[in-house]
Amino acid sequence: MSEGAERLADVKARIIKAAESAGRNPAEVTLVAVSKTHGADRVKELLEVGQRVFGENRVQEAQEKFPALKAEYADLELHLIGPLQTNKAREAVVLFDVIQSVDREKLAATLAKEMDRAGRRPACFIQVNTGEEPQKAGILPADLDAFVVACRDTYKLPIVGLMCIPPVDEEPALHFALLAKMAARHGLAKVSMGMSADYETAVRLGATHVRVGSALFGQRQTGHAGAA
Ligand SMILES: *Cc1c(COP(=O)(O)O)cnc(C)c1O
Repeated sequence: MSEGAERLADVKARIIKAAESAGRNPAEVTLVAVSKTHGADRVKELLEVGQRVFGENRVQEAQEKFPALKAEYADLELHLIGPLQTNKAREAVVLFDVIQSVDREKLAATLAKEMDRAGRRPACFIQVNTGEEPQKAGILPADLDAFVVACRDTYKLPIVGLMCIPPVDEEPALHFALLAKMAARHGLAKVSMGMSADYETAVRLGATHVRVGSALFGQRQTGHAGAA
């Protein structure tokens, strides 16, 4: 078994264990393998052992790696997990199957327009800045209700769930519980939360998508964007 395959098996086993310990069906949890900064060869290593869902945080980097892989693996599912600038929305709608970082009205409006133009409607998550950190992307919890309504009713976006990245220095469980509660309140079935350090906690608290990078691929090269 390759090192990548071993790490994948380990993460999957931990997800199953965490789900079962919380009385959840492990099949409800999707592992998003976050391949940012790592080359197509590393992605392929995981594709060869059955992983199909990947996450990237930059449109341009994903464009360099994924079109060829998607041509080879038709069921590959690519998620955008990083902040999206409106001037990249057109490319994002064409390349990604899921956009997890919808967080402001201008972006929602642009995505709606680009989805109409492309005739392609990637599923969307609303990113919530649960820690209310000024430097971090995401809609503030106080603005979420109105934003969900705007995304659904005004822009007709296919909103399926909520996503968050908790502050690094706070107990993630509090943020995970809050996000799950907000999703339930809006009748949203999907909750994207948990990274390498805390995905098991996130699964216990209801994550349907965990975004795991370094636990699968090893440390990223420095100089590349992190979780912020
Ligand atoms: C990089 C990144 C991850 C994965 O982080 P790890 O700690 O390497 O698992 C998850 N979510 C987002 C939004 C990221 O940018």
